[in-house]
Amino acid sequence: MLPCPIPLLRLLVLRLTVARQSYRGKQLHDLLYKSRAKQIQEFSHVPKVFREALVGAGWKVGRSPVHHAVTASDGTTKILLKLEDNRLIETVGIPVDDDKGPSRLTACISSQVGCPLRCSFCATGKGGFARNLHAHEIVEQVLAIEETFQHRVTNVVFMGMGEPMLNLKSVLEAHRCLNKELKIGQRMITISTVGVPNTIKKLASHKLQSTLAVSLHAPNQKLRETIVPSAKSYPLEALMDDCKNYFLETGRRVSFEYTLLAGINDAKEHAEELAELLHTCGGGYHVNLIPYNPIRGSEYKRPYRKVVQAFVDALEARKITVSVRQTRGLDANAACGQLRNEFQKNPLLESSPSSEPNLVPA
Ligand code: SF4
Repeated sequence: MLPCPIPLLRLLVLRLTVARQSYRGKQLHDLLYKSRAKQIQEFSHVPKVFREALVGAGWKVGRSPVHHAVTASDGTTKILLKLEDNRLIETVGIPVDDDKGPSRLTACISSQVGCPLRCSFCATGKGGFARNLHAHEIVEQVLAIEETFQHRVTNVVFMGMGEPMLNLKSVLEAHRCLNKELKIGQRMITISTVGVPNTIKKLASHKLQSTLAVSLHAPNQKLRETIVPSAKSYPLEALMDDCKNYFLETGRRVSFEYTLLAGINDAKEHAEELAELLHTCGGGYHVNLIPYNPIRGSEYKRPYRKVVQAFVDALEARKITVSVRQTRGLDANAACGQLRNEFQKNPLLESSPSSEPNLVPA
């Protein structure tokens, strides 16, 4: 008998340490992760009396239903999942095809319902914050993508709604489940952050082989604070120090994300300043440029292609390795938070905690 009557849904991410050693535990594990059973009634391999005992003890198996899904012409599919408390979260499946069909499938997953950090360019930030996601709510996004595409998820990026470092406990629990149970390699998982004080160090101490992606968006503190308001509590110098130490501790290079906003942070001088900043960070980094994906109600604009190229050239001339992220699913409200905002204008129900930015990690 399983030890405590928490919902079996959460069993998706529990360690099953004791139970897995037993025959029954192995059966439950296979039912959940291999057969992908969604109801206890589907546990056909276990005796009826055992199923009834699980139901009687209040255990549940299930998934959050898909509330809405849209697919862009390039196959990118954005899904809204409706959680038990009626909140909506976004998760995105991004396929990369070769001649034989999809060769890579990336799940871009959320870690919070909304986000308290309110980065100025972000649709999620504009939609407010409701709560952290539980680990099983993070994992089930990957399962939903696999079911939608009928294909294994090969890569996971924590770049959907929310700041993963503000929900680090659940993110780490989900990370473990994705790696151990869904067999997604640690190196195929990216955890993204705009920077929350004292959390990069904490993450580094787990010595994961996953990529840390730090959303920089500006080469200096002053400009960064106008784009990422939460940067006020985490000076750029301290952030870069933590990134350097992350690389030293894990051996994994840090990916710096930089959203290019036309006329704001996309000048050649910004690229030069960025190169200088990165040179202080040692050698373990890569820059990922993201030409801004316009959202409704924002004054920011996407830079012209030649401006993006000039930025790339300026970085490469200073020996910075750089790539430009291809914009996927532009016609499917692809910027994080956009689709959720269409369907849930106000995520802050009366029972919600404060919507004020809170930089204390969970
Ligand atoms: S960019 Fe990320 S951290 Fe910033 S408001 Fe959006 S979801 Fe939050």
